[in-house]
Amino acid sequence: MPETKVKKSDDFNEWYNEIVELADLCDKRYPIKGMNVWKPYGWKLMNHVDQLIREEMVITDHQEVNFPLLIPESSFKKEEEHIEGFGSEVYWVTHAGLNKLEEKWLLRPTSETAMYPVFSLWIRSHADLPLKTYQIVNTFRYETKQTRAFIRVREIHFFEAHTCHVDFKDAERQIKEDKEIANRLFEKLSLPFIFNKRPDWDKFAGAFYTISIDVLMPSGRTLQLGSVHQYKDNFAKPYEISYETEDGKHAYCHQTTYGMSERILGALVGIHGDNKGLVMPPKVAPIQVVIIPIIFKGKEKPVLEACKNLCKKLDESGIKSHVDKREITPGNKYYDWEVKGVPLRVEIGPKDLEKKEIVIVRRDDGNKKSVLQSSSIKSIKEELDKISKSLFKNAKKLLDENMHRVQTIEEAKDLKGIVELPWCGTEDCALEIENILERNTLGEPIENEKCKYSCPVCGKPAKTWMRYAKTY
Ligand code: ZN
Repeated sequence: MPETKVKKSDDFNEWYNEIVELADLCDKRYPIKGMNVWKPYGWKLMNHVDQLIREEMVITDHQEVNFPLLIPESSFKKEEEHIEGFGSEVYWVTHAGLNKLEEKWLLRPTSETAMYPVFSLWIRSHADLPLKTYQIVNTFRYETKQTRAFIRVREIHFFEAHTCHVDFKDAERQIKEDKEIANRLFEKLSLPFIFNKRPDWDKFAGAFYTISIDVLMPSGRTLQLGSVHQYKDNFAKPYEISYETEDGKHAYCHQTTYGMSERILGALVGIHGDNKGLVMPPKVAPIQVVIIPIIFKGKEKPVLEACKNLCKKLDESGIKSHVDKREITPGNKYYDWEVKGVPLRVEIGPKDLEKKEIVIVRRDDGNKKSVLQSSSIKSIKEELDKISKSLFKNAKKLLDENMHRVQTIEEAKDLKGIVELPWCGTEDCALEIENILERNTLGEPIENEKCKYSCPVCGKPAKTWMRYAKTY
């Protein structure tokens, strides 16, 4: 089977670019850099990820909304920290037709400032709360660094949930639910991750605190897939999102947001893929099983019949399958589906039929075996489950092997991946370590872990651990 020119273990970033091309996920030739065209298979994969997110939104009682793309400057400027944080990243619309706009509009970099003026109209009394909404839209950020498909782009496919609550405590319950959503979702995607409480100087503009969701890519760099923000009433005050309490008083709402982006697809490609192409976890694969008829002249009919029957039975059991009837060699078919990362391949030929068997081949480890036709559905389900678990286990191994807890900067220097060092809690000391290690501050563990050692910079007792990594 053909393999990528660049091997994943030799140069991950180059391999990543090659695999995105090979699997035909997006077209980067669009004449605006960082604004890529989603090609059919890439878009299908993204939609399947979105579908898993929507399922989570249904079980947690969030309502889907869709707000306009354009935001008036005056709405955007109401929360000062927010505008400071995003000021250099937004695209402005200055003209409409031939007229210069009296007030500029911007393309949403995220939708707080589009939604909150409207939330202030929607929310009147405590009976309107909690308000739990989400949307899946495109957002825009003016990236000046080098762009990379799904990982650093200027038009971003984005999920954002926005919630309003009666008080801080109820908003905290939402954050807890958000963490549970992340746990369920990323397990389905076989993507182990870590939560990091971002340091104050690096939290989301306007937030009370921010928790990021980070995965480790095989290059040793971390990739932030999403974040959860507790706003307290920081936005509710300038946007006047208030309600009448049960005893007739007025109070400001407490708010949270939850954002995740197309980077999830970047992580699926980068973490699970290999030198033959994508490897899709079964729960997100648009086709979970591809059935290849092995045709010999004169024996086409029973083979095709058996393939069709299996496809029908899989369909009835909720497994997405496809029979590849194209008139090309089986080898070429194998290659095509391997590149696309289809988790399981079934081969059925006349000899298999004689033995009342089918052949099952796993995409992730290439394991091949014959199973009885009579128990094919059960065997296929078991194999799909094994693939999910095995992908998760391998990714978890990568994460665990590249997370290091050490006490001195010297020990941290040559380590790949994420390092944790004692931290006294000051910005200066963390930035000093960032500089020496040439890594970024990821944040502290959210479990409020105590650390009995001292800060490697100032020598004062550490309050907790701080994580550092090279990031995308
Ligand atoms: Zn210190």
